[in-house]
Amino acid sequence: MRLLDARRAGCGWSASSRGHGLGLRVPPRRSKPVPASPHSSVVTRRILRSLERHHPAASTELVFRTPFELLAATILSAQCTDERVNQVTPALFARYPNPGAMAMVEPEGLESLIRSTGFFRAKARSLVGMARAVVERHGGEIPADLSALVALPGVGRKTANVVLGHALGVPGFPVDRHVLRVANRLGIAHSADPVVVEHQLGGALPPARWTLASDTLILHGRRICKPRPLCDRCHARGDCLYLTATPSSVAAPDRRAGDAPSSFARPQARGAKKR
Ligand code: SF4
Repeated sequence: MRLLDARRAGCGWSASSRGHGLGLRVPPRRSKPVPASPHSSVVTRRILRSLERHHPAASTELVFRTPFELLAATILSAQCTDERVNQVTPALFARYPNPGAMAMVEPEGLESLIRSTGFFRAKARSLVGMARAVVERHGGEIPADLSALVALPGVGRKTANVVLGHALGVPGFPVDRHVLRVANRLGIAHSADPVVVEHQLGGALPPARWTLASDTLILHGRRICKPRPLCDRCHARGDCLYLTATPSSVAAPDRRAGDAPSSFARPQARGAKKR
């Protein structure tokens, strides 16, 4: 997809878009300006460095050997734990090790292998649809391009960024519910829209740090900044706007939507997009 087409599609990066002098692909400019985050880029980078020290070597917990395996595993991880996905993928990939093999089966043929991950009929359709599209459009290779990835059946922007960042060597900033909650609480982002948060965080950090930053925020959200946050154990509490605005939040966390306090997480809720 040419750069102009990608921009018109509003769906991501182009191979011709490079930045930071690193030869890395970066998101094209949004047609609409991205609203500013409460914290500056300098503070955002400081917070991420602190969290990265606290959660060293954060990465995806999905087990994979190839970009195809990570893409399939990430599709299976919707509404399911990584641990459960890792239990079913060895048998799945033993029988269907690449897009060509998976493209040959009917979705019903996968259902018994992935049943325990939940929503198995829809996931089987997505896996087979994805595999067939990869074969037909990309010769069996997982494309290293956000626009091409999100055009595949069952592949959303978060999944595409996971695969780009972890399996294809292309910077990606997956924004899941943990990133959304933690970033808004800290004040390093300010939106309920994952795409806006992706651009706010991506704009504050060099592309080479995006994937690790996302993994770190996810781990922080799972371990410390849970819906009921453990602020007394948080290494970023000195910069956290959630505590500044609601100092009693340690004792009385905001549970609405299981997410960040309304003053930070919900300003654009009406415009929030489905991931
Ligand atoms: S201080 Fe509390 S609310 Fe703020 S990031 Fe840390 S755990 Fe989350």
